[in-house]
Amino acid sequence: MTYRNGAFVVDTRGERARVAQVIDSLGQQAHLRAPGGGEEWKALFSDLRLATREERERATRWPQMKRSPFDCQECSKDMAAYQEALESGNNFRTASALVRQRTHWRLEHGL
Ligand SMILES: [Zn+2]
Repeated sequence: MTYRNGAFVVDTRGERARVAQVIDSLGQQAHLRAPGGGEEWKALFSDLRLATREERERATRWPQMKRSPFDCQECSKDMAAYQEALESGNNFRTASALVRQRTHWRLEHGL
């Protein structure tokens, strides 16, 4: 069982299963990255399972994340707009930006 690049998986080794995104693979080994960037590591596909929808949502909880786990211009634009609205202190604009981002994630990225 292998997973495509971009898939959300769970590394089942260790005491605490970790959610990760597949960024590359070679043979039976997957190159993983923590959702939203940061730590990268490798694991065998046999140590991975597909993340549940809930695990995926928890791992990509937004707006705590500073950048999108997707290589997507629209995401970057939406997140910048959200940050700007947040800093302006305008609650309506902030909520609108959040809704726009979430809708985009659901429609475009299946989250
Ligand atoms: Zn996007």
